[in-house]
Amino acid sequence: MPQPSSHHITPCRRCRASICWALTTANGRRQPVDAAPTADGNLAVTRGADDVLYVRVITQARPELRPGEWQAMPHHATCTNPPWQRRPR
Ligand SMILES: [Zn+2]
Repeated sequence: MPQPSSHHITPCRRCRASICWALTTANGRRQPVDAAPTADGNLAVTRGADDVLYVRVITQARPELRPGEWQAMPHHATCTNPPWQRRPR
């Protein structure tokens, strides 16, 4: 499985875990994802030709990884020192 380069990896401000910032392919917003790839992750991360990481949600309609993608967990889901989440409604 491909992995992020070391220069993409940065410690989380809140819990010091290794994360990467990636741009969502849906709307171009920055999203923190766990640096370590995991087969349990619901995100597919890839490194663009511009050396920026891009992330998309793996959906039932598009479950297969494309070449160069790896699976990762959104850091919101694993951060041991939230609050990343929005307030409950
Ligand atoms: Zn964290």
